[in-house]
Order: sequence, then C-alpha cells, then structure tokens
Amino acid sequence: MNESSSAPSHDPFGFIGLTYDDVLLLPNETDVIPSEVNTTARLTREINVCIPLLSAAMDTVTEARMAIAMARQGGVGIVHRNLSIEAQAKEVDLVKRSESGMITDPVTVSPGATLAELDALCGQYRVSGLPVVDERGTLVGIITNRDLRFVPGGDFATRRVHEIMTPMPLVTGPVGISRDAAAALLGKHKIEKLPLVDGDGRLRGLITVKDFVKTEQYPDATKDGEGRLVVGAAIGFFGEALERAGALAEAGVDVLVADTANGHARLMLDMIRKLKADPFFSGVQIIGGNIATRAGAQALVDAGVDAVKVGVGPGSICTTRVVAGVGVPQVTAIYEASLACKPAGVPVIGDGGLQYSGDIAKALVAGADTVMLGSLLAGCDESPGDLVFVNGKQFKLYRGMGSIGAMASRGKKVSYSKDRYFQADVASDDKIVPEGIEGQVPYRGPLGAVAHQLVGGLHQSMFYVGAHTIPELQELGKFVRITPAGLKESHPHDIQMTVEAPNYTGR
Ligand code: 5GP
Repeated sequence: MNESSSAPSHDPFGFIGLTYDDVLLLPNETDVIPSEVNTTARLTREINVCIPLLSAAMDTVTEARMAIAMARQGGVGIVHRNLSIEAQAKEVDLVKRSESGMITDPVTVSPGATLAELDALCGQYRVSGLPVVDERGTLVGIITNRDLRFVPGGDFATRRVHEIMTPMPLVTGPVGISRDAAAALLGKHKIEKLPLVDGDGRLRGLITVKDFVKTEQYPDATKDGEGRLVVGAAIGFFGEALERAGALAEAGVDVLVADTANGHARLMLDMIRKLKADPFFSGVQIIGGNIATRAGAQALVDAGVDAVKVGVGPGSICTTRVVAGVGVPQVTAIYEASLACKPAGVPVIGDGGLQYSGDIAKALVAGADTVMLGSLLAGCDESPGDLVFVNGKQFKLYRGMGSIGAMASRGKKVSYSKDRYFQADVASDDKIVPEGIEGQVPYRGPLGAVAHQLVGGLHQSMFYVGAHTIPELQELGKFVRITPAGLKESHPHDIQMTVEAPNYTGR
C-alpha cells in the first residue's frame, strides 16, 4: 500500500455541528402583530398544515386520541408502529371516522345485535348512536343514547337493538345533499344524525351535528378532501412493512412515514421506491427518514419521498449518540438536509430535540418546514398511558422506541419496534442493544393548552423576526451563535423559581 492511498481522503474532523442551545434568532425590524401571523406550513409535497407541528410515532405519544387532537389543532399525529398491523390500522380508522363532512362508510349495527354489543361499538368509536341496517344494507332505524337511557343495565345482555331503536320512517337525506341543506334538515327536525339513503333505501352515508360543531370549534383542523381529519402512521422497511402499509392505506391513512433510525439505508430506499411506484399508494404521501446529512436527504429525495424527516440522536430519550457515537447536532442536521431538499421542493421535518417553544422557530429558520415532538407532548392527556404520582406530583411515562421496554418482546408476542434500530434479527431480549431510555415527563393537561403555548411561542418568534408567514420567517431569520455563558443568560438565572410558567418549568 503506498502512502497516498492510506491517507484519509477527507478531513476526519469534518465541520462543527450546532444545535438549538447553540443559537438564538436575531431580532429584526417588525410590523408584525403576533396574533395575526400565518403559520401555515408544508408537511409534504401535497399536504399543508395550519400549525407546523407533528406528534411523534412513539408508543407513549401517538395513538388515535393524540392523532385526533393534533389534527383538530391544525397539525398531524403519526400513529406509532409498535402494534400489530390490525391494531395500528384500527387506530387510523378511529381517526378517520372521528369527524367528517360526511361519513361515507358509517359504522352500523344490525337489528338483532344485543344492547351490550351496541354499547361496545359506541364505546369503541366514541359515538352516541348508530344507524341500524339489515343484512341488505337497508336502513331500518336508528339507535342513540337517548333510546338506551331507560333500559336497566342488567337487560343489556339479552335485549336487542330492534326492540328499542327508533324505527323507520326517519328524517333522511338523499346521497349528494349539500352541507347547507343537511344543516337545515338537522336544525328543522332538531335531530343530531342525518342518515343518507339511496333510491332503494340503502344507507349510503351519515351527517352528524357533532361534525358541524367541531368544524366551528376547530377552524384550523387538518382535513382531507372529504372533510375527515388527516392522520399519518409509521411503517418500517423490513418483513411485513409492505403488508402494514397496505392495511394502513386501506384504513384511509393520508401519510405513511417510513421510519428508521438510519433512513440512508439501501433497504429503506428500496421500500420508498416500491411505495412510490405502486398505484395502490398514489393517494398516500410518503415521508422517509431519519437522516442527518445532505447526502442522506438527497438519497431520500432521489427515491421520491414527499418529505424528509431529519434527526439522528437529538431525541430527549435517545442514546444513539453515546451508544454508537453517531449523530449530527440538530440545527446543523436540518440545515444540511435542507440543502438537498429545498431545490427539489421537498419539505423537511425536524424530528426530536426540541425542548422549548423557541426551538420551533430555530428549526424553521435552519430549514425545516415542520417539527416532530415527543417529550413536549408525552405529558398530555391525549398521549397513551396513565398518570403516575411521584411525591404528589403528576407525571406520564415516556420512553424511547429504542429503549429496552419498547424493543423487548416480554409480555407481548412480538416487538415491532426492533427493526427501527436494525435489530429485528436479535432473537432474545437480553441481546438487544438499546438506543433509548425509559422515563417520565411532567403531566401537562390537554393538548389544546400545550399546543396553544407552543404555537404562541412561535407567534412571538415571528413578531421578533418581522415575519408574517413561515416562508418569511425562513427568509428573514438569522442566527447568532452563543457561548455557554450566553445560554446561561438565556434561561432564568440568579433567582429561585417559585412559580412555573405554563411554557417553562426550568432546566
Ligand atoms: P423528543 O421530542 O423527545 O426530543 O424526540 C422524539 C424523537 O426521538 C422521535 O420522534 C424519534 O425520532 C426519536 N426517538 C424516539 N425513540 C428513540 C429512541 O429510543 N432512540 C433514538 N435514537 N431516537 C428515538
């Protein structure tokens, strides 16, 4: 071997990587009123969101309840994949059915079902009543809470739906009825559900008062073309991933997130090419990740993704950077990825590492279009899991998807989380090499209040920078690099905090 071939072909020390705590945004001349800014952002090539926030695909963050709440606020939730295919598809189905302009495929009950069966269905779909259809799909009645109210609980196992339902004739609407005409019918007859039937009396859809109310209550909600909430779901690239993608698409998922700890992997790029080439998935946007370099982002762009997710090791529960010694500080990682994505018109998602609302604007200025949050949302009412009390304070559990708890099969037939870390072939739990930890975060109350503070912080950032819109923020925002002394000065200092603010609980 001669001397020149043994010399490194590149500078092994590379460049300096910066993260959120290393930078601040410069204040600028402004005429912006914080409450009047427009935070509309591009989630994927084809989907826009009113607030640039996603909830992480983690089993302590996003299932149907969180995804519904996120979409109502104007963001999107990504349902995690540490679930069987059927269970994950069910979560997606729950979101898609939660509210809509018109439910095209309503959940129904048969006249012969017991009240106990009906009650279970209503609980599962969180609805107050169901249309009753016979085996031919003909609408024969409707049954709601009101009908059930005077039936003793002990009778639920034996009494049948047809005995107490309100039978036909009911107030119904024709297929294709306009929104205004439907609202008028609901109001005139003081009813809450309007079944839509075809010329043969078959049930073809359902419009509910709840959906009208929700539309007024959540004007920023992220909705699909049919007025249903938008939802994403994570898949892998390995084993049953294609089958999982198919089941999720059938359940109506809008966004598939092909999600691994190293998205710059050949198998992952193959998976994305397959999904993009298959007409079955033409109505679904495909996000790929995670990467943390320009080359990684370019590879995903070349494979055809609709958005690139950035982040190797920034997560609060993540140990990749110490276990493997690999990663890129997140502000630099986002910037590098954006160099490949911007020219191609592919949006960038900054995933992980955000600790405060101010980090959102920093991510956007670095080149992200949206951000994905784990720890900042895990303490919400809507995240899976119960409250735990420690010394009288309330917490919720939060764990990495690469933690032992999430990757181990103990207690479940199989772990679906291992292949995110390319350890699907590891047979026994004690051979797993975790890249995350398990912990708890303070309880934060409902997502609505948390999102208000996060988005409110972004509004303030936009005011200081002088940006009316996210594209303006990206254009006008400039960083100043700070030292550890600057960071110390940024946080409250030289005082003992006696009252926590809703958006600041200390370091
Ligand atoms: P956070 O918002 O808590 O800082 O980060 C959440 C993000 O961390 C997730 O969206 C995901 O990309 C990443 N993540 C989740 N679990 C793990 C883990 O166990 N290990 C690693 N390396 N990253 C994780």
